[in-house]
Amino acid sequence: MHDYSKLISYLSQYGISVSDDQVKQLDTYYEMMTETNKSLNLTAITEFDEVIVKHYIDSVTIVRDIDMSGKKSVIDVGTGAGFPGMVLKIIFPELNITLFDSLQKRLNFLEEVIYALGLKDISTYHGRAEEAGHISSMREQYDICVSRAVANLPVLCELCLPFVKTGGTFIAYKSDKGSSEVEASAHALSVLNSSVVKEDEFSLPDSDMVRDLVIISKEGPCPKAYPRKPGTPSKKPL
Ligand code: SAM
Repeated sequence: MHDYSKLISYLSQYGISVSDDQVKQLDTYYEMMTETNKSLNLTAITEFDEVIVKHYIDSVTIVRDIDMSGKKSVIDVGTGAGFPGMVLKIIFPELNITLFDSLQKRLNFLEEVIYALGLKDISTYHGRAEEAGHISSMREQYDICVSRAVANLPVLCELCLPFVKTGGTFIAYKSDKGSSEVEASAHALSVLNSSVVKEDEFSLPDSDMVRDLVIISKEGPCPKAYPRKPGTPSKKPL
């Protein structure tokens, strides 16, 4: 078992405690990720101390701004190896989480983790956000959407906001370029009936890596035309 004290003490600052079982789940996830990574490209970061800061702590930084307790529905768009969605599910077991990605092989890995950890109220969904955003069982169904390292903010708004209920929240995990991306997103946000309520810029613990959580509130329904067909949001950003 690895040493999770850095993550535990980070969360304790926000009044969040982690049980021994949760620590075991995080460790099994780490072991499965590094093992699977030998044959499937899941992550470039595999060294334990780096994973703790750049994947695990980075995933939970959302607690700075959002109350993640309770039975909220959450979708992680472009979850990859499960960041931030899988870590959030382990730390906040009451969440109902959909791990969404266009790459089936990564979702197969996440299915194995879900089974090994015995997690409930979590599912994977394979597809393109541009298409799934029009499916009635997913469109405007989630309290919270999270997304990290998938696209620039103007593109990401079109991919993610259609999943969020009116009154819900989209949190984009950004690096130090967050502010300029927010400026470039003014048109997309207005078309998609949403607005930035907060930008939270900080450094990850014991690191000079700057992070910027962009918190966006969905104020009204998305027009039916959005998201546009696969590829169009990135080729012609709003
Ligand atoms: N969020 C993870 C992280 O931060 O480690 C993975 C980031 S990875 C760079 C981007 C992921 O987004 C990939 O797994 C890719 O398959 C997925 N993706 C990109 N465009 C997508 C789209 N339009 N719909 C669904 N998934 C998409």
